[in-house]
Amino acid sequence: MSLAAAAVCASLVAVSLLMCWLYPLPQPKPYSLVITDRHGTFLGAFLANDGTWRLRTAPHEIPERIKRILIEKEDRYFYYHPGFNLLAIGRALVQNIKAGRIISGGSTISMQVARMLNPKERTYWNKFVEIFQALQLEWKYSKDEILQMYLSLVPLGGNIEGLKSASLLYYRTPINRLNVAQLLDLILIPNDPNGLRPDRRPDLLYRMRCERGSDFLRRGLLSRQDSVVIWRTPAGVSRATIGLTGPHFCLRIKDQHPRSSEVQSSLDSRIQKTVEALVTNHLRPWKARGVKNSAAIVIDNRTMEIVSYVGSESFEDSLASGQVDAVRALRSPGSTLKPFLYALVMDRGILTPKTRLLDVPYDLDGYAAENYEGTYSGFVSAEEALRRSLNIPMIRLLKEVGLTSFGATLDHVGFASLQPQKPRLGLSMIVGGCGVTLEELTTAYASLARGGLYSRARYLKNNDTTGLPSERAISEAAAYMITEILSGIDRPDLPNNFESSVNLPMVAFKTGTSYGRRDAWCVGYSAEFTVGVWIGNVTGKGVPDLVGSRSATPLLIDIFNAISSPHQKTILPIPSDVGVRDVCATSGKLATKWCSHVIQDLFSKRHSLNQFCDIDKEYMVSIDSKKHYCVMCVKKHPHKLAVYQEYPPELLTFWKATGRPFRTPPVHDPTCEQLPQGSGPQILSPIHDMTYLLTHGEEKIAFYATSGVDVKSHIWYVDDRLLGHKRAGQKFFLKLQDGKHHISCLDERGRLSSIMIVVQSL
Ligand SMILES: [Zn+2]
Ligand SMILES: [Zn+2]
Repeated sequence: MSLAAAAVCASLVAVSLLMCWLYPLPQPKPYSLVITDRHGTFLGAFLANDGTWRLRTAPHEIPERIKRILIEKEDRYFYYHPGFNLLAIGRALVQNIKAGRIISGGSTISMQVARMLNPKERTYWNKFVEIFQALQLEWKYSKDEILQMYLSLVPLGGNIEGLKSASLLYYRTPINRLNVAQLLDLILIPNDPNGLRPDRRPDLLYRMRCERGSDFLRRGLLSRQDSVVIWRTPAGVSRATIGLTGPHFCLRIKDQHPRSSEVQSSLDSRIQKTVEALVTNHLRPWKARGVKNSAAIVIDNRTMEIVSYVGSESFEDSLASGQVDAVRALRSPGSTLKPFLYALVMDRGILTPKTRLLDVPYDLDGYAAENYEGTYSGFVSAEEALRRSLNIPMIRLLKEVGLTSFGATLDHVGFASLQPQKPRLGLSMIVGGCGVTLEELTTAYASLARGGLYSRARYLKNNDTTGLPSERAISEAAAYMITEILSGIDRPDLPNNFESSVNLPMVAFKTGTSYGRRDAWCVGYSAEFTVGVWIGNVTGKGVPDLVGSRSATPLLIDIFNAISSPHQKTILPIPSDVGVRDVCATSGKLATKWCSHVIQDLFSKRHSLNQFCDIDKEYMVSIDSKKHYCVMCVKKHPHKLAVYQEYPPELLTFWKATGRPFRTPPVHDPTCEQLPQGSGPQILSPIHDMTYLLTHGEEKIAFYATSGVDVKSHIWYVDDRLLGHKRAGQKFFLKLQDGKHHISCLDERGRLSSIMIVVQSL
């Protein structure tokens, strides 16, 4: 007996294993990708890989009473049976035998799902296989998961599967906005998916809805109010296409998440629609002038999430290449990289906002570099040079720090697309001679807004800001000083809408116009957002009127005005290592007692060098001020002290050429026997203009100078006091008192070199 039972069990197991091998559980079907915004609002969906609209529909997305009707209609004992319902199958069998053909399947929802996953001809054997696979489904999945598959896979006409797909394609609305009549239609259409399509046979569908509706009303499954809606709602619709909010953004998400069925993105659909509308408004007058495209992107500084992404003014406008995503297009950045050069130079210690820079004609690789305005300013402060976006001072600074260092700074703020261009880049890159994307630019500016911390832009919603991986790309002090410069309201390029913008927070921004007026840029940041705007033609066609400050800046200001929360002021708090110090207005360097005009300047306590003014200098001059004396000849003459300005020779040349009057120191006494001939010794240490910080009292400073081969010995002076003779090239060390020291080295032929240093004990 027990042997027989064991044999039965064994054969059952064997049959089950054989069935499992013959009919394995079908693979789940691929779902359509659905993209929502950061608040869960629908942005767009894409066809599943097999060409079907199959959006995943969870049971909780269907109103409870509709779910009850569905279960009542399809499979009353769904929550109780193991996958099949013997009673229902028996009843169906009787009906089919009576009718002489298959008119009823007695299928449970689980069996229907098995058939949807693996469609087969309707035969008794296949029915058996369905039962077996329904059992497999029940073993593997919960009832809710099986119901979800049903709601997502149920055929609703054409290539539409699932209630959510049908809701969007037939009713152009998310499923949670459908009324009871529409929902009822969606659970009735599967009875005859192509015969009851609301876009083809609304009459049949409406008749069935009313019939079954009154039946459900009688059985207490629907209310009287429901029945009114059921009678009044027309059944006919025209099939729609699924529109995308932020189409370029959605396409990017699709590329990044090809296998996901649902992605909650970082986009904010409200901000997205606002920015889209502003882009359209601003582009309208430009379109008449031949400017066809525009792009804009908005990043939340706190989380680095992209909250708005407009890749073109109109995705549908194929004449204007609307499908091209201009956020990702490689374009000439014009002047928009200049703040990052300042960041590098500030962190090297050689630039603060009031540092004076030369703006005189300059030879750049055989071409005369020009400013945008075609004029030169002579000697300008760093802040003015950046606000007016002067080219010459930037080219000179780039030459000073080198392309390699600048390239590294740009790497740190995420300009990945510059990497392959590097071998071809020259000094002109600082005025737009390279290609970057709007996304890279905006992300890099967000690093300034975040006090110098770089983090890549995010496409998915991410509330975990504590874990936001960031790297320090720029010092806090440089980010602060650049922000102060770019947010100053005394700039020449403020647009007309700046004053009237009521909600406008403090915004730091930089404009750019590429060579040939092909691209107009404006990138800016408040405490809250970083916004990047590009206007131009994706074809690269230039338009004479196209200028960043005239076209892109007004759009940027309008975007900030529309999306900013009220009552915010400062962008960055003042970092602890930023201080205010007195500098000479003429040179922008630390004021000496000879500087007549002293102003205040920001500086980095950690990075900024303590260079003293090298323009205002004291001279020993003759009583009639006609000549000056050096340490060698002054002893023979009565003299007085007078301050003169010693400007860089290039500046004097420029002033002379432009007819600007200037005063120079009187000539060196021509009778001086020590009048230098040729160049004097080159003092290599100490270094001119350096501040030597001595950490302990005994530290000495190295003295070292070289001369030509015709020179055997040097005579050294400190503060005009003779130190003694040294062999040319001989190194020696000396302890100096705190304070400023004037050091001279004279060779045996009477040529003198002098430098100035400052010694400071800590
Ligand atoms: Zn000075
Ligand atoms: Zn002299």
